[in-house]
Amino acid sequence: MIGGIYMLSDQETRDAIKVMREHFPEASTTLDGDTVFHFLLATILSAQSTDHAVNQVTPALFDRFPTPQSLAAVEPSDVEPFIQRLGLYHNKAKFLVNCSREIVTRFNGKVPHTLKELTSLSGVGRKVADVVLAECFNIPAFPVDTHVNRVAHRLAMVSPKASRLQVEKRLMQAVPKEHWLDAHHSMIFWGRYQCTARHPQCAACPLLKICQYGQSITQSPDHY
Ligand code: SF4
Repeated sequence: MIGGIYMLSDQETRDAIKVMREHFPEASTTLDGDTVFHFLLATILSAQSTDHAVNQVTPALFDRFPTPQSLAAVEPSDVEPFIQRLGLYHNKAKFLVNCSREIVTRFNGKVPHTLKELTSLSGVGRKVADVVLAECFNIPAFPVDTHVNRVAHRLAMVSPKASRLQVEKRLMQAVPKEHWLDAHHSMIFWGRYQCTARHPQCAACPLLKICQYGQSITQSPDHY
């Protein structure tokens, strides 16, 4: 209990993430990108799309647009055919072109590596920036995507109404900095394969004993 609300302590949070890592020792990024610029594009495209779907469209996109300059020189309508299998592709095409133009005009053609500069680019929110900082520049960050957010809430690592930013700050406080990226990947795989949005595998979950959400599901008369 923390402040009258059931919440995992820092140690319990670390222990839970350790269990996730033991279950998915291979957990790491599943987005493809052969350069920092291409990884940034892939991360922008991954909003509301699976990494698998993004990886299917990016080889042709990267081949046609190898540099920020090449993508800055075209119109969004030239990009749309490459990404139209993804949701929100109209907006995403605009983001990619505008982001590339900004990289060329404001950052001398190089992807910047501070949170402030990255989040000033079109299509780049805090999560995208955190992913790029951690994966490409080895700068500690704890990106909170839909899986991390769901798992943190279900396991009561955070208070019930915590925003994504509050989730990020709470996890950064509980987990040592050198483990942030690993913990982020472990929680993503946990959310993707064990604690899924619609059908969490609670009955067979090694964290059930500390998970009130899972216990409420398995004890429900509608379970099974
Ligand atoms: Fe997720 Fe269920 Fe495990 Fe809790 S018990 S972490 S809700 S799968």
